[in-house]
Amino acid sequence: MKNRKIFVKTFKPQAVSICLSLIICILIITLVFIFFYRNENIKPPIEIDNEQLISFQTNNYPIWEAELHTHSPSEISRVIAIQKGDNLMGVLIRAGVERGLAYAAIEALKKYYDPRRDLNIGDELQISFYPQTRYQKANKFGRIKRKYSLKSVTIPVSFDRLVKVTLSQEGKFEANEAKRNIRRETIAVSGIIKSNLFVDATSVGVSPTILAKLIRIYSFDIDFQRDLWEGDKFELMYEQIRNEKGIIIRDGYIHYAKLTLRNTKLPLYRYVTSSGNLDYFNEKGNSARKTLMLTPIDGARLSSRFGKRKHPILGYTKMHMGIDFAAPIGTPIYAAGNGSIIKAGRNGGYGKYILIRHNSTYKTAYGHLSKFAKKTRVGNRVKQGEIIGYVGNTGRSTGPHLHYEVIQNGRKINPRTVRIPSGEKLKGAELQTFILFRDTLTKKFSNLKQIKNSSFKENN
Ligand SMILES: [Zn+2]
Repeated sequence: MKNRKIFVKTFKPQAVSICLSLIICILIITLVFIFFYRNENIKPPIEIDNEQLISFQTNNYPIWEAELHTHSPSEISRVIAIQKGDNLMGVLIRAGVERGLAYAAIEALKKYYDPRRDLNIGDELQISFYPQTRYQKANKFGRIKRKYSLKSVTIPVSFDRLVKVTLSQEGKFEANEAKRNIRRETIAVSGIIKSNLFVDATSVGVSPTILAKLIRIYSFDIDFQRDLWEGDKFELMYEQIRNEKGIIIRDGYIHYAKLTLRNTKLPLYRYVTSSGNLDYFNEKGNSARKTLMLTPIDGARLSSRFGKRKHPILGYTKMHMGIDFAAPIGTPIYAAGNGSIIKAGRNGGYGKYILIRHNSTYKTAYGHLSKFAKKTRVGNRVKQGEIIGYVGNTGRSTGPHLHYEVIQNGRKINPRTVRIPSGEKLKGAELQTFILFRDTLTKKFSNLKQIKNSSFKENN
C-alpha cells in the first residue's frame, strides 16, 4: 500500500503531460485526416476511373438510358437522358460536375436556352469532361485514377437544333447554337390488310406514330373498328428524320395516303393553300375535315381488334343507338368536334359520361369512361381531336369500350349518317394548283415504290 502511494505521487506530473500530448496528437491527426478526407470526397473535381464510371452509370440509371462514350483516351463524355422531375443543375451534379462549374455553365447557356422551359423528359444531354493531369496518380492496385472536370454540355433544343456550352481557353463558359446534322427522307410504303392494320402496317416499317397520324386524318370518314376488311389496301408516303448516326429520331408528316376499302379508293393529300391553310384534301380538293369524327378515339389502340370478325363488336342499331369501340382501358378519347361540355360525371348505365354540344343541331355523348381529362369540366370549350377522357368499363358495360352517340335535334342517330364537311373546298385557280401538286405527289410515290422494288429485287 505504501509503495504504491509513492509510485503514484512520483509519476503523476509526467503521466499528465504524456496524456495531454497524446490527446493533442490524436486531435491533430484526426483534424488532418478529416481535412483530407473531406477534400477527397466532397470537394470536386471528382475522381473517377472508367470502371467506377460504369458502376456509377448502372447504379444511377438503367444502362439503356446512359451510355458511355470515350472520344479519346483523354476525354470522356456521358450521355444522360432526362427523367421525370429532373432539373439541369441536379443532372449536372449527378453526372459529376462540381456545383460552381455547373452554375457557370447554366448561366452561360441562358442566352440560348431556358432550362426550366426547354428541358424535356427524354432529352439526351452530352456532358464532356477533360482530365486534370496534375491530379493523376496510381492507386494501390496500380490503376491510374484521374480527376475530371467539366469541359462542355450539349443539349438538344429541338429535333434539328442544339445548344452547346464549352469551357474556353480563358476558363470561361461560352454558349453557342448549332444545327443538328439531320437528314430528311421520304418513305413510300404499301400493303394489304391480312390480319389487322397495326400488324400489317408495322410489318412494312410504319411506326406507331405514323399509324396514329394516318388514323387521325381518316377518322372523319372511317369507323376504324368496322370498316376495314381483309384484303383492303393502304398506301403511304411520309417523312422520316434521321440523326447523324442514321438513327430515326422522329417521324415527319404524311404527304400522301390512300386507303382502298373494298374497292372504294380514299386518297388524301397534304396541301397548304395559298392563304396558308394546311389540311388533307381528297382527289377533288375537298378537305377531309368534317364537323364530327366517326372514330373519336385513338384508333391505333383499336387495331388489335381488327380481323376478329368472329366476335362482332356492336355497331349502331335502332336498339342500341350508338357505336361501341372496344379498346383497352386508358385509351384516349377525343372530342368528335368543336364544342362545349354540358355534362361530365356519372350517368346511370353510361357510367362516367361526357356530353358535348357542338352547335344548335348536334351533340355527342361518350360513355363508360375510366376517367376524365383534366380540362373536362362542364362549361369548358373543347377543340376537335382534343383528349376529353379515357376508355373504361364503368356503368352497365360488359368490357372496356367507348360508347359513342351522336344526337341530332335531341334524337340519337347513326354517326355514319353525319358527314358534314367543315373544311375548305378548293375552287378555281387554287384547285388547279392543287391538282398539279396532287399529281406530283402521286408520281413521287410511284417512283419511290419503283426504286424500292428494284433495289429489293437486286438484294434478293
Ligand atoms: Zn354501346
